[in-house]
Amino acid sequence: SFKDNTSPNPVSGETRLPATPAPGERMNATFVTLARNSDVWDISRSIRQVEDRFNRKFNYDWVFLNDAEFDDTFKKVTSALTSGKTHYGKIGKEQWGFPEWIDQDKAKKVREDMHERKIIYGDSISYRHMCRYESGFFFQHDLMKNYEWYWRVEPSIELFCDIDYDPFKFMADNKKKYSFVLSLYEYVETIPTLWDSVKKFMKTHPEHIAEDNSMQFLSDDGGETYNKCHFWSNFEIGNLNWLRGKAYTDFFNQLDMDGGFFYERWGDAPVHSIAAGLMLKKDEIHFFNDIAYYHVPFTHCPTGQQYRIDKKCHCDPKDNFDWNGYSCTKRFYETNGMQLPDGYAVEQ
Ligand code: GDP
Ligand code: MN
Repeated sequence: SFKDNTSPNPVSGETRLPATPAPGERMNATFVTLARNSDVWDISRSIRQVEDRFNRKFNYDWVFLNDAEFDDTFKKVTSALTSGKTHYGKIGKEQWGFPEWIDQDKAKKVREDMHERKIIYGDSISYRHMCRYESGFFFQHDLMKNYEWYWRVEPSIELFCDIDYDPFKFMADNKKKYSFVLSLYEYVETIPTLWDSVKKFMKTHPEHIAEDNSMQFLSDDGGETYNKCHFWSNFEIGNLNWLRGKAYTDFFNQLDMDGGFFYERWGDAPVHSIAAGLMLKKDEIHFFNDIAYYHVPFTHCPTGQQYRIDKKCHCDPKDNFDWNGYSCTKRFYETNGMQLPDGYAVEQ
């Protein structure tokens, strides 16, 4: 079997045993990956790193979702690499297609126009379905329904430091609902009217807006305009019940009706970020400074040499994006009255 850890190594004669599981309880949590069959080798690299740095000792499950049927190679290779249970699901047509209220001609003209203007993924239909799915539906999939926590993993990411504790349990113990490792400014061309839609939502659903929210992270003028700051959603650890709740559902439905996933190119990153920023309390959003991470083209390498040594990190601190002018992470610290980490000044 491809999961065999008990056959001796033909050279050394040693048997490769699974890692000793970390003691302690497990959360009701899973990794979740949206991928195509063609992503198999790129997602394998991600899985290998997540397992080596964390999950081989925690053995959390992994859910894979796809708009097409996963093939045998994808299932075999990814199951061999994971230490927890794997589940493979297909996405329904209603959740990966144009809703009936979308004007197809208008959407097509937008794609052509964005193609001319060379906006990244501007001409892509599938990318828009992906963004809408990640914004509104992945947490509703049958395979996700029984979990409370998720950790999103994309192809070709890297993890640079050991994670010796359970981030899911950290989230639960500290009443966190959403988290990030990198933040940045969104391309304005992809979301010109997103904030109008958000303002409409704030008016029609004031009951969903948290009192102690992170508006200061999202806006420089008290909510009049959006400053484009968002948490980068290719990494997320979050609470599924929050996404499945009334507030987030009302929020997504209003955005979906306004059509910007197709008439513009709204990304799931600003959508999740604005939702978290407005509907969660400030202290329900967590910055995982200790999770060192790369997704092209940005790196989060924890500030502080002693930490990097202790956790066997292999990232170059010079690559760290946090204190760069294009990052919004300093603003997150300010919003939350947090002190910048030791080493911030020397390593920026
Ligand atoms: P980027 O990070 O914004 O450049 O976008 P990616 O190409 O990484 O896509 C984001 C996530 O959605 C990744 O996990 C991809 O594997 C997945 N994805 C993107 N497009 C599709 C698609 O058409 N079908 C499926 N099943 N997954 C997709
Ligand atoms: Mn990606």
